[in-house]
Amino acid sequence: MREIRILGAGVSGLTSAINLSKSGYKTTVFDRAGDSGTRFGGDLQGLENWSSDTNVVDELKQSGVKINFDCDPFRKVILTDGKEEARVTFKSPIFYLVKRGAFDGTLDNALKQQALDAGADLRYKEKPAAPIDIFATGPESKRVLGVDKGIVFETDMEDTAVALADIDAGYMGYSYLLVTKGYGCVCSAITKDLGMINKCFTSTLKIFEKMYGLEVRRPRKVGGVATFNYRGKLVDNGKLYVGEAAGLQDFLWGFGIRSAIVSGYLASESISKGLDYKKLIEKRYRGYIRSAVVNRFLWEKFGKRGYGEMIKKVKSVEDPDRLFHKLYSYTTAHKIVFPFARMMLKPHYPRAGF
Ligand SMILES: Cc1cc2nc3c(=O)[nH]c(=O)nc-3n(C[C@H](O)[C@H](O)[C@H](O)COP(=O)(O)OP(=O)(O)OC[C@H]3O[C@@H](n4cnc5c(N)ncnc54)[C@H](O)[C@@H]3O)c2cc1C
Repeated sequence: MREIRILGAGVSGLTSAINLSKSGYKTTVFDRAGDSGTRFGGDLQGLENWSSDTNVVDELKQSGVKINFDCDPFRKVILTDGKEEARVTFKSPIFYLVKRGAFDGTLDNALKQQALDAGADLRYKEKPAAPIDIFATGPESKRVLGVDKGIVFETDMEDTAVALADIDAGYMGYSYLLVTKGYGCVCSAITKDLGMINKCFTSTLKIFEKMYGLEVRRPRKVGGVATFNYRGKLVDNGKLYVGEAAGLQDFLWGFGIRSAIVSGYLASESISKGLDYKKLIEKRYRGYIRSAVVNRFLWEKFGKRGYGEMIKKVKSVEDPDRLFHKLYSYTTAHKIVFPFARMMLKPHYPRAGF
């Protein structure tokens, strides 16, 4: 079988490598960094479990990925605007916490090991000499729309997940506090006036200290950038694009791990079974991407005033799982609002490819 060359040994590229190697292809992955996961420094990130009927862990397994990394389910979440609070218990895990970075227990390290076990050849700090088949290079600098700044730390706090929607703490974005097994992460994520990130992060810390007794030992800085591309390149001259390099990122909250893994898998399926990659992605992600555009528009439109109302709404619903699922289901309401949302967001996000 022919050799498949992949650029980028991150989540999406490694998923393609795992599956292609298992299908018998000679698979070589090139990465400009010294290891997989060096973009992160132990950040806690959420594998969202709300955008599909299929449980994300099952979808990962269907995508050829083994769960041999820390992956802690969270059913209880606190949503707050810094004043109102909703303590929500979901029937199923609303997300699974994973660690990112280049060390034991992280998602990145686990996928790297799975790719090696499957027989892939991973070449770090090496440029490919021959043409690339799959581009899995993560965020593209000219598409950066958001920035995330925070810390990871040791703590005696109990396991918790708090999402904070407050204009000063996460301007047009949000902030979060996550703690699992004595390890915590606090971040502020914003999508506008990116220079405000330091101020936002300081406000975030103050709110979490006051409301939840944030207790931090041995903090280390983490953070990074996020992209979104409405017209992400999926196929170009026979080359496939996966993960964030294809623009497959949630425009509302910046979640991208799940789509990186699934698109990495679909790229491998397209190669090994001769399927149309663009069609596979459009079937799985067209509605998701459009819903996220609508959700972002509403998030920004109702802003400060709306956060408190949203929290009241979440508090009052009987089935919060269904509510979150509906957010990404591309309902009739989404379909009606979508053209308007896209038109209104276009001038504010010239890098989003609208
Ligand atoms: C601070 C932060 C918090 C986040 N939190 C969440 C979260 O809670 N949940 C969630 O789902 N998502 C989250 N995301 C997004 C998520 O991390 C990404 O969507 C996901 O990692 C994208 O996977 P990928 O495979 O596309 O890219 P990556 O995993 O970034 O991998 C890209 C790889 O390509 C390599 N590379 C780049 N350019 C080149 C090149 N020219 N040549 C060779 N190699 C190259 C890089 O070194 C890297 O190894 C967060 C992102 C940030 C920054």
